[in-house]
Amino acid sequence: MSRPLDAIFFDIDDTLFSTSVFADKARRAAVDAMIAAGLRATREDCFRELTEVVGEFSSNFGAHFDKVVQRLPVGASTGLNREILIASGVVAYHETKWRELKVYDDVYEVLRWLSARPGLVRGIISAGIGIKQAEKVIRLRIYEFLTPNAIYFTEQVGINKPNPKLYRRVLQDLGLSAERCMYVGDNPVNDIDPAAEVGMITAHNRRSGRHSEEEGRRKPDYVIRNFYELRDLLRGEFGFG
Ligand SMILES: [Mg+2]
Repeated sequence: MSRPLDAIFFDIDDTLFSTSVFADKARRAAVDAMIAAGLRATREDCFRELTEVVGEFSSNFGAHFDKVVQRLPVGASTGLNREILIASGVVAYHETKWRELKVYDDVYEVLRWLSARPGLVRGIISAGIGIKQAEKVIRLRIYEFLTPNAIYFTEQVGINKPNPKLYRRVLQDLGLSAERCMYVGDNPVNDIDPAAEVGMITAHNRRSGRHSEEEGRRKPDYVIRNFYELRDLLRGEFGFG
């Protein structure tokens, strides 16, 4: 007997694509570009400052490269236009973003497969700044596979992960029953614990990212390492054809 499933919700970062690898590549490209524009620092020193700035001011802070220039010894930018240095970093970062921001092949294939299933709600519950998370959905080219009214960003909802109210609110909003909905995420504490707490079926994606080996309070119902495993699970346990 297969279990009924009305909806699947996905986390974005480190679930649909490797945020960690992507951010690392983009930041290295930015550092290289600033040095190419004349910044007198080694790649290592510059990258270390940038990593510290991201850690201290958060990844959503809007002026990472300004802070890097500010923190390096004064001699690093003497005689150079600071805004030009910063713009070099910003442009390289965004160019890398355009080029590298892609879902894994299996993610694309399985989302497309899911979108062909009549009546299944395919949603997003993602933490972060609305416009930044929305930009990822568009750049990743997966919007066409999602249910338009089932996309939730915490900034817009006003409730952040790991508050279980976030997940409860989404279910209420869409008139869904928790036990017939699945949440797929990489973070045991932010994704699995609260989704399990409201009664959703949970799938822990342990593919990549810094949270993939952490343990939460609750055991996920399923553990997957890629979306082909998700497809197998949906076929095996939920009767998907
Ligand atoms: Mg995540």
